Amino acid sequence: MSERDTLAQVAAEVVVCTQCILHKSRVKAVPGEGPAHADIMFIGEGPGFHENQQGQPFVGPAGQFLEELLASISLKREQVFITNIVKCRPPGNRDPLPEEIEACKQYLDRQIALIKPKVIVTLGRFSMARAFPNEKISRIHGHPKKVEGIVYMPMFHPAAALHQPSLRRTVEEDFKKLPQILAELDQLQDEEPPEQAQQLSLL
Ligand code: URA
Ligand code: SF4
Repeated sequence: MSERDTLAQVAAEVVVCTQCILHKSRVKAVPGEGPAHADIMFIGEGPGFHENQQGQPFVGPAGQFLEELLASISLKREQVFITNIVKCRPPGNRDPLPEEIEACKQYLDRQIALIKPKVIVTLGRFSMARAFPNEKISRIHGHPKKVEGIVYMPMFHPAAALHQPSLRRTVEEDFKKLPQILAELDQLQDEEPPEQAQQLSLL
């Protein structure tokens, strides 16, 4: 990343990107959106039908549920940064392929480096794998962990939760842990020398 990199620059590159096959079938690329220094960043899987039409992340039914989850902790979507592991829609909503995730990784890496979120919430197993490559989401969801200096909080994907009542409750409960995690991180930043920042009780 150059010192002059900006979120707008990343987005400008994404919308004309041809680095993987997904560019061929996209209507609009979806770089992501939110404040430049959001405390929380959400990483989904990839654009779906509505996102591909509109060029914005999480604007279909999964997005509506995400907004409800945010409201449950008194947040609006405008207060968080929302993006995906791949920026163009996999045809028919198929899973993104490893080579597509790899080709798109530079954009997400740059977004994270620019935003420097306090917490990254991964939604679903593909974005979880970025920080926890050999884990199972059923085992680690709802348990924040610091990886290479960033606190990651893995959660089930809201689209999966929409169709399964038990998962829905799980996602709702995991979401409610976010304010406490942020509060603990703020407290550590205020009170403790950086080398003690590992000692978050939830981590
Ligand atoms: N599902 C995702 O993973 N991302 C979106 O942007 C929308 C639905
Ligand atoms: Fe480029 Fe990512 Fe879109 Fe592939 S998914 S074309 S790497 S922006």
